[in-house]
Amino acid sequence: MTTDLTRQAAHEMALALRDGSVSARDLAVAHLEAAERQNRALNAWLTIDRPAALAQADATDARLAAARRDGPAAIAALHPLHGIPVALKDLISVEGGQCTAGSRILEGYRSPYDAHIVERLRAAGAVFLGKTNMDEFAMGSSNEYSAYGPVSNPWDLNTVPGGSSGGSAAVVAAHHTPLSLGTDTGGSIRQPAALCGIVGMKPTYGRVSRYGIVAFASSLDQLGPFARNARDAAALLHAIAGRDERDSTSAPIPVPDELLQLPASDDEAAAWLRGKRFGLPREYFVAGMDPDVERRIRESVAFIEDAGATVEEVSLPHTDYGLAAYYIVAPAEASANLARYDGVRFGQSRRLEAADFIADYLATRGEGFGAEVKRRIMLGTYALSAGYYDAFYVKAQKVRTLIKRDFDRVFATGIDALVAPTSPTVAFRFGARLADPVSMYLSDACTLPVNMAGLPGVSIPCGLSEGLPVGLQLIGPAWSEPVLFRAARAFEGVTAAATWRDQEPTDLGLADDASGPTPAQRAAARAAR
Ligand code: GLN
Repeated sequence: MTTDLTRQAAHEMALALRDGSVSARDLAVAHLEAAERQNRALNAWLTIDRPAALAQADATDARLAAARRDGPAAIAALHPLHGIPVALKDLISVEGGQCTAGSRILEGYRSPYDAHIVERLRAAGAVFLGKTNMDEFAMGSSNEYSAYGPVSNPWDLNTVPGGSSGGSAAVVAAHHTPLSLGTDTGGSIRQPAALCGIVGMKPTYGRVSRYGIVAFASSLDQLGPFARNARDAAALLHAIAGRDERDSTSAPIPVPDELLQLPASDDEAAAWLRGKRFGLPREYFVAGMDPDVERRIRESVAFIEDAGATVEEVSLPHTDYGLAAYYIVAPAEASANLARYDGVRFGQSRRLEAADFIADYLATRGEGFGAEVKRRIMLGTYALSAGYYDAFYVKAQKVRTLIKRDFDRVFATGIDALVAPTSPTVAFRFGARLADPVSMYLSDACTLPVNMAGLPGVSIPCGLSEGLPVGLQLIGPAWSEPVLFRAARAFEGVTAAATWRDQEPTDLGLADDASGPTPAQRAAARAAR
């Protein structure tokens, strides 16, 4: 075990907390220092709340001391996240705290209550370090649509971390925190996890309550964990999952304890693969896919086969329609969800006064929303208009059913999980996809269908291509998160000896430079070329 606390896994921190060799305050301080030191270079945090984090850390230390006095049973009753630092995407409500959703229109807004998952994390004893940068209202795949500036990828400061949960992925990759939370509507957890070389899961729709989360597209949005390894990500999902009366779409399905029982031993983890059946969807090797990314995926498949599993090619014939259908459904729901930002109920501090009430709205929304958000509102409003509703929205919902049936058919054959690329490319340079919205939308071609079908998917690191991380996506039937994490942990086991496993993000040292360029300056310099 290393002496640098930020280099430990969360499950190692949990052991150290219990044996008393480290305190929650030590952990918070070490991570806060790294975050504060490198945020100029990364811009991954929108706020770092040192006083609140230290107060929470001290409270968990006190609870730990009390448990120690009460004996082993009391220690064992503490959640594995007790005393562990966590970062929250800035669309998750924390009572009294900011919640910008990456938008100007919510600048100055304070959340009146805690999100359900925040209550759950508090109960588990997690320590919140701050809120992370994101694409405005979670629309985007590069974090370049944040009103608060772009985020640099710790592997190459001139590239994007992915999006929309770019900040949450970057802070975990940079060891500013072992754990963070994001949301995934079409890929926003898995794609940045892939681009930053970490683990990120989008759970089954309904697994996690959305109460207190800024809504983008309500029938697609799910919250999920980021971590640097499968065990930590599974423990974080365990803490946040489960039925909540305040979100009628959260399912009354018990949270499986298997999420806390992934094997510690690499060999034991790898042995699970023997006799398992995986499907490799032909359609996920999309046009425009980087050949070297494809090579890493095929090598990963070989690793899985060598461990005793079978990987058979399968077909999900409606995959190609996923993108088109998503860009009807998601903007339609977004146009309705974003109607509430009128400068009256939310975002009063950004309210503009004009000639009359309607003019107030127009001015406030015109100034408060960025170009991508306006594009989505226009697309969505159009698709829902009388006369177009059947042609677009209803049609897209039918396509959605076809996409779901493709998955159902494959899983009905007894396939345990699908293996696929997460993203067709590695991290791209600032500005590379800004001129053409459709090229940005294509970043999620391999992740969107999973949201359309409501299924769980996890992205795990599977190697490097030209020095940048590649993500392998595992997709399973509804409620199969324990199986997906088992498979993810098994893949860690079979690749335990790979050299890329120990590699730290290349540009982390550069991020220490307190006088170096900010991500916004790097992006501007590229744009000027
Ligand atoms: N990139 C996709 C979009 O912009 C997905 C975003 C997300 O998952 N929140 O809609």
